Amino acid sequence: MSKTYAPSEDAVADIPKIVGGLRAAFADGRTKPVTWRREQLRAMRHLLTEERPVLEKALKDDLGKSPVEAHTTEIGFVLNEIDHTLRHLKSWLRPQRVSVPAALAPAKARKVREPLGTVMIIAPWNYPLNLALAPLVGAIAAGNTALVKPSELAPATAAALADLVPRYLDTEAVAVVQGGIPESTALLEQRFDHIFYTGNGAVARLVMAAAVKHLTPVTLELGGKSPAIVEPGADPAATARRLAWGKFTNAGQTCVAPDYVLAVGDSAEALERELAAAVTEMFGDDPRTSPDFGRIVNERHFDRLTALLDSGTAVVGGEYDRDGLYIAPTVLDGVDPGAPVMAEEIFGPVLPVIRIPDLDAAIAFVNERDKPLALYAFTGSAETKRRLTTETSSGGLAFGLPIAHLAVPGLPFGGVGESGMGAYHSEASIDTFSHTKSVLDKSLVPDTMRLAYAPVTGFKERLLRRML
Ligand code: NAD
Repeated sequence: MSKTYAPSEDAVADIPKIVGGLRAAFADGRTKPVTWRREQLRAMRHLLTEERPVLEKALKDDLGKSPVEAHTTEIGFVLNEIDHTLRHLKSWLRPQRVSVPAALAPAKARKVREPLGTVMIIAPWNYPLNLALAPLVGAIAAGNTALVKPSELAPATAAALADLVPRYLDTEAVAVVQGGIPESTALLEQRFDHIFYTGNGAVARLVMAAAVKHLTPVTLELGGKSPAIVEPGADPAATARRLAWGKFTNAGQTCVAPDYVLAVGDSAEALERELAAAVTEMFGDDPRTSPDFGRIVNERHFDRLTALLDSGTAVVGGEYDRDGLYIAPTVLDGVDPGAPVMAEEIFGPVLPVIRIPDLDAAIAFVNERDKPLALYAFTGSAETKRRLTTETSSGGLAFGLPIAHLAVPGLPFGGVGESGMGAYHSEASIDTFSHTKSVLDKSLVPDTMRLAYAPVTGFKERLLRRML
């Protein structure tokens, strides 16, 4: 499969018609019944199970993902999201009664969720299936029509989605538009009722600027440098295994991967020794030959990453091969906080370790930088957990295990500050793709509102002041 992308004028020219069709489909009301939403979610389930070999192959072609990783981080992940949503949708959509103040009684008030309309989902390349379909689960469950724009940097998965989605889902209500910047730019000129963007902060700014024109709300799922604080009291072998798993899954190309380690006190040495052991245990003596270790998405990212390897001493890995887009699972020691590897999100299999004297310094280090998408800590101390919870800000916070907070259905997933705005997964997706309408219902008879009407007499005034 070629990794090059050729823009097509036809695709750009077709965009207004496609979006118009989705708007018309929303207007005709087909997406509102819960039965339609359930049918579509079940159809997406069939797509994922029946077409699993096609999807696994696409993920292999794009990112060298093993079938197991394709299951746990992509196909299985979306299946779980669908099943959880099907199980809870009825209760999530149930109108919620709220109490009415005495001055307005008797009356009823409730919160009712309604779909937003036609939404656009722009997905990135690193989990190209998951990050296109998991938001789509929420968009459909909330009753919207949706346009999905997969990443051109994962062309095999983008092509599979463009082929399969129309074969399984309602083509009037869900569209996939492939393409890169020309198509995305043309799409952003259209009016959507919500734009859900996952990717980097620079493009997020373009998305938000385009959304201004139509006053379209946006969800921005971004990235950044997610630190992992390791305290001396944490078991070094278990910490190293968890860190190696979190960092080297998908060859480090994960938005919530631990970006760097802040090794508190004297924890660095044992940790690095155990990281070396964990890498060998997981990927063998030569990770290049491991079927479980992925590849870098393209040459541009490969060159960017290999340029970072001089930022420290490789105590694990350090080897690379441009032809195979392979960079070994690498741990860098002796990294200065001002080194290039600490300037931007790494997004590859390179883990710098920075030695830091104590927890105060680690907290200050985190707080001096952009708010991360995730903050991790490996500690045996309840006090450390309490302090990190109250003294730092991040999209998510996890103790003892990176990445997996995404797999807890009840936890919203999203960033804060530079790591993003808004959230999704599970009920948070329904919140994102719905408007919560406030409904007040007061009978006309008897007219208990007479007190509020002019003319205001002394008696009315005294009563009003007492009631409100
Ligand atoms: P990418 O290059 O695939 O871009 C993402 C999407 O933006 C693509 O669909 C692309 O076509 C589109 N795009 C690119 N340029 C555009 C433009 N000028 N106008 C409109 N659209 C444009 O992916 P990426 O941005 O390299 O993704 C990696 C980043 O995403 C990392 O920072 C990572 O942390 C972040 N990320 C975040 C999450 C999350 O859930 N928070 C998940 C995955 C990745």
